Amino acid sequence: MRYSIWSLARNALSHHADWPRQWRSPDPKLAYDVIIVGGGGHGLATAYYLAKEHGITNVAVLEKGWLGGGNTGRNTTIVRSNYLFDESAALYELSLKLWEGLSRDLNYNVMLSQRGVLNLAHSLQDVRAGRRRAEANRLNGIDSDWLDTAGVARVCPILNTSLSLRYPVMGSTFQPRGGTARHDAVAWGYARAADARGVDIIQNCEVTGIRRDGSGAVTGVETTRGVIGAKKVGIVTAGHTSVLAEMAGIRLPIQSHPLQALVSEPIKPVLDQVIMSGAIHVYVSQSDKGELVIGAGIDSYNSYAQRGSFHVLEHQTAALVELFPIFARLRMMRTWAGIVDTCPDASPILSTTSVPGLYINGGWGTGGFKATPGSGFVFAHTIARDAPHPVNAPFSLDRFTTGALIDEHGAAAVAH
Ligand SMILES: Cc1cc2nc3c(=O)[nH]c(=O)nc-3n(C[C@H](O)[C@H](O)[C@H](O)COP(=O)(O)OP(=O)(O)OC[C@H]3O[C@@H](n4cnc5c(N)ncnc54)[C@H](O)[C@@H]3O)c2cc1C
Repeated sequence: MRYSIWSLARNALSHHADWPRQWRSPDPKLAYDVIIVGGGGHGLATAYYLAKEHGITNVAVLEKGWLGGGNTGRNTTIVRSNYLFDESAALYELSLKLWEGLSRDLNYNVMLSQRGVLNLAHSLQDVRAGRRRAEANRLNGIDSDWLDTAGVARVCPILNTSLSLRYPVMGSTFQPRGGTARHDAVAWGYARAADARGVDIIQNCEVTGIRRDGSGAVTGVETTRGVIGAKKVGIVTAGHTSVLAEMAGIRLPIQSHPLQALVSEPIKPVLDQVIMSGAIHVYVSQSDKGELVIGAGIDSYNSYAQRGSFHVLEHQTAALVELFPIFARLRMMRTWAGIVDTCPDASPILSTTSVPGLYINGGWGTGGFKATPGSGFVFAHTIARDAPHPVNAPFSLDRFTTGALIDEHGAAAVAH
């Protein structure tokens, strides 16, 4: 069924009791052409574009829990494309362009809200880096402005721009097309659209091993629901990328860390943009429900537990109040964490591997949500053609041996 004002009206007549399920829950077949491990946004988007762009529909997405229960459903939903390096700018801008047509493409409202993203500068070094990034973005055709302190105050009047601040606001990058999207709608929208094209989405099905033949090529996966055959397997498991890769004997240069976030009680609309500060170390936006969605950087230790330390939350709420004294008396409602897999250069891996038939999409660290559509698009190409798309070729695994790293950590100095 197509979602529209007419289907809404029709279903209102039956008190919304007859809406069909959004996707099927089939039992796994004995074999597929392609298996995608991981039912987050990236895995589901990959399956969708495999079917839509390459006509490969004999595909299964295997998810150990429930769709979007990993980082897709845990992130703070910031979407932007103002990365410094040409390679990253191309990947994230491809993604942002896909975001801009996604609700229509999927016939599902992913609630993209292009409210603008600001990265505040608090020192001369921040100012230089921010201006350089804004200019580099413009050379890549990405909307990106530089605001001075008065400009920041005009865009976000509730922000503390006083000179008495410990680290005063000295300016900001500004990407007007950046913003937020509704995270779980993204997973559900891709799942529904992939299912409609014949993809099997199988939840509660953990992959426990990767099977290979005598030549080393992939022949399928072992799962908690039995062995499933496939000549091509894509690993899209975010915080568990290295666990899955190890099943095929591949050691990745990835560290897995908890990343926390928290939300406040809901309040009336007061904040129209996404505000990020790498130096004071907090970022915040306001959700459609009215909650402030707040985050910062990773907990510094490695862990697979989806929880973090209290002092990290304390630090980011202190930073929030420093930047927004107006929020000082707000109560926080809940906190949570996801496990993010970070590469040494803070750029993702979208790659073929030394194992024939095995492909890896991971290493997105703290900032992969915004890349969901673009990542799925180029990864589907990589799997279908057994070769990278020009946009993800620089993100291949061999960059760790050639040294052609894309060091967004140092360049942009911002997470998410
Ligand atoms: C607190 C937090 C805030 C963030 N904020 C932002 C942000 O504002 N903007 C942004 O761009 N990014 C952000 N990110 C990063 C972003 O969430 C991730 O990069 C992105 O969601 C990764 O998507 P994914 O589909 O690859 O992973 P996931 O959604 O985690 O999907 C991977 C799936 O693989 C499954 N899986 C794992 N092992 C197995 C197995 N053995 N068998 C079967 N399935 C398995 C998991 O259950 C999971 O559902 C944030 C992350 C966190 C944790």
